[in-house]
Amino acid sequence: MSGHARRRLHVLKFGGTSVGTAERIAWVARRSAASARHERTIVVVSAMAGTTNLLLKSAQAAATRDRNWCEAVKEIRRRHTEAASSLLSVGEQPDFSKHLEAALEIFESLCQGFEMVGEATPRGLDRIASIGEVISAELLAATLRGRGVQAVAVDATKLIVTDNRFGDANVLPEPTLTRLRQRLLPLVRRGVLPVVTGFRGATRDGVPTTLGRGSSDYTATLIGSMLAADEVTIWTDVDGVMTADPRLVPGARVIPRLTFGEAIELAFFGAKVIHWKAIVPVMESGTPLRVRNSFRPATRGTLIVPGGAGRSAVAAVTAVPRVQLVTVSADRSLGPVELATRVLGWLDSTGVHPLLLLQSSAENSLAFALTHEEARTLPGLAQQLSSRHGRDGLVLHSSEEVGLVTAIGSHIRHPTGVGARMFSALARRRISVLAVATGPSGQGVALAVPPKSLVAAVRAIHREFRL
Ligand code: ADP
Ligand code: ASP
Ligand code: MG
Repeated sequence: MSGHARRRLHVLKFGGTSVGTAERIAWVARRSAASARHERTIVVVSAMAGTTNLLLKSAQAAATRDRNWCEAVKEIRRRHTEAASSLLSVGEQPDFSKHLEAALEIFESLCQGFEMVGEATPRGLDRIASIGEVISAELLAATLRGRGVQAVAVDATKLIVTDNRFGDANVLPEPTLTRLRQRLLPLVRRGVLPVVTGFRGATRDGVPTTLGRGSSDYTATLIGSMLAADEVTIWTDVDGVMTADPRLVPGARVIPRLTFGEAIELAFFGAKVIHWKAIVPVMESGTPLRVRNSFRPATRGTLIVPGGAGRSAVAAVTAVPRVQLVTVSADRSLGPVELATRVLGWLDSTGVHPLLLLQSSAENSLAFALTHEEARTLPGLAQQLSSRHGRDGLVLHSSEEVGLVTAIGSHIRHPTGVGARMFSALARRRISVLAVATGPSGQGVALAVPPKSLVAAVRAIHREFRL
């Protein structure tokens, strides 16, 4: 090999709790600077913990003439100014304050608008939602410059091009790739450390969008795979991807190695530690993805890579609370394929992502499960179904809230008895199973249980498979 071997490219993403205080931001700055010394580095940041929720909650309330947003402005200003005063020198603070005030001004004027018209539009909410990322990227970049690192905050609305599905926008790969190559790569090549805002993108016309709640992970993996990075590291607040959410199962353990297939299943079915969309680009490019704890950097975390992991059947158990299980049935004038075509066509027009779909040809019914948040975007579900399809013989049979517990593993299909063991573990605790689903690739078995039994169900299955 020549002496000019290409330097490694590493994308580091820091989540909300990892930049939640001045102390944590100082650590992130040290870690990013250390990385940039020996490899080309791109940093992606989330908003300081709690900021996104506060912004969205108060903006939505503004539409009901609730003036709490004024308090939110003060709170966001206070938290960031406090952090800046301990991270930046007196001379560096005014420049950061300018960025902070510009972001708060957007928030204020949109809230005033929502108040006036009595409505918070999805487009307006998206403009507000990722303001926290703009502020935290400016703060981290300023902190790095104060420590002698050539760093610059980069607003992802200039990089990531999306459609206009506000709140959960889809990335347009071609223009995004062009912009990443033209605007981000040259910075890195010049030895500048870019600090990119997670979570946000913009339409071709520059209207800000967001990629879905928790999607800063996706920003990082998208950039990593499009720029052929050698690795993407997600720095978070737990030791890695674990056998269950440690908040639900105190005995949960870190999984040292996972396949992309397992990871996507885990993320899709509730493991919030990584956004499911984030797995898609690295799965395509084969870029190794690491999940590590920024509070315990000495631990190794989880490495997610292609291929089989060669472990026993079940790797992890996940939970999705508050899932709406909707069953639609039809009279016999409609065949099962027609029933599915109509329901899927309608679902497609609404743009939701059902967690699962179940069909019974014998009953001539079809069920789909939506997260509580997605179900909320379909007000008057029954009305919509019957008004569009009622005369075609479709009936909304039931719509009930359930919890979804899923056992995940790449070899789940091979050993016999995984499903039986799950059922008996639940039966012993008198937990009823309301629906069952398993995908054709056989990497997960999902059971719908009564919402109040969800935590007990997760613990029972975790224990059953000795995870
Ligand atoms: P960040 O702000 O860093 O993006 P998140 O709060 O989005 O962090 O994700 C980390 C959280 O995910 C953890 O605190 C943990 O409670 C939750 N979590 C859910 N399922 C899992 C799992 N299987 N492994 C690890 N963490 C999980
Ligand atoms: N701050 C955003 C959210 O809370 C994005 C992220 O943290 O990934 O959804
Ligand atoms: Mg997250």
